[in-house]
Amino acid sequence: MTHTTLSPTLTLHDDVAIPQLGFGVYQVSGAQVGPAVTAAVEAGYRHIDTAKLYRNEEEVGDAVRGAGVPRQDVFVTTKLWGDDHGYDAARRGFDASLGRLGLEYVDLYLIHWPSPEDDLNVETWRALERIRADGLTRAIGVSNFGADQLRRLADEGDVLPSINQVQLHPTMQQDGLRSVHEEMGVVTEAWAPLGKARDLDDPVVREIADQTGRTPAQVVLRWHLQLGNVAIPKSVTPERIRENFAVFDFELSDDAMAQLARIDSA
Ligand code: NDP
Repeated sequence: MTHTTLSPTLTLHDDVAIPQLGFGVYQVSGAQVGPAVTAAVEAGYRHIDTAKLYRNEEEVGDAVRGAGVPRQDVFVTTKLWGDDHGYDAARRGFDASLGRLGLEYVDLYLIHWPSPEDDLNVETWRALERIRADGLTRAIGVSNFGADQLRRLADEGDVLPSINQVQLHPTMQQDGLRSVHEEMGVVTEAWAPLGKARDLDDPVVREIADQTGRTPAQVVLRWHLQLGNVAIPKSVTPERIRENFAVFDFELSDDAMAQLARIDSA
């Protein structure tokens, strides 16, 4: 039997373990997503990030159920879209996502974007708290929330968001928000962790890749792991899916981390 290397996990404030390296499926069509998720699970990924918006929950659910690993070994995230803000709408939105996924529960449910109406964030959050209390999601969090929006949920809600999933990559490092998360006990999850592949052409990233004998994507993902982020790179290319997961057997030096810290351009 072959031994599959798995990602290290981080522990959310409510003791739920999340694999630090996951697999994103934004802009992956229903037809493409099954083979992509299957390739990812074969490579060792045990964490899939989807959303109502991505219109592939049904196929993601099929692939997770057919992946040949027990359901409890795969961490599944989905997200509430903007048309489902508000208490009742959020519950309906969640039930519909769970139905499309064909699962008994998800591991993490996120508010995808804050509502422009601030009060609706709190109301929607109350619905997520209820969904969690009902045992239908193991953890709840948010995405694309600013520090003030996050603080408001922490102040007015009963459950602190476990995670804030935000755009974060070497040319957009989000230092301010990362410190707020750290202070609050909220885990930082990076979307577009490769900067939509654009950061892979950065000269500093390329130089570190040459020095370490790794690819630019591996350098960037290693950087995320060493910063303590959860990262969810997307690829529909089987070699890249495997390449992106082969990052647990090397370390970036303090000097390399310091060089990468300087390419933040946000
Ligand atoms: P990524 O930073 O993951 O970049 C994906 C791009 O990089 C694709 O074009 C992919 O190409 C390419 N790529 C992947 N691996 C490699 C590699 N090793 N070498 C060269 N190119 C590579 O961007 P995403 O926007 O996809 O973000 C990742 C995930 O984050 C999403 O899938 C989604 O789950 C989440 N997300 C969440 C958002 C939110 O608002 N919460 C917003 C956006 C994303 P190819 O597929 O052709 O191989």
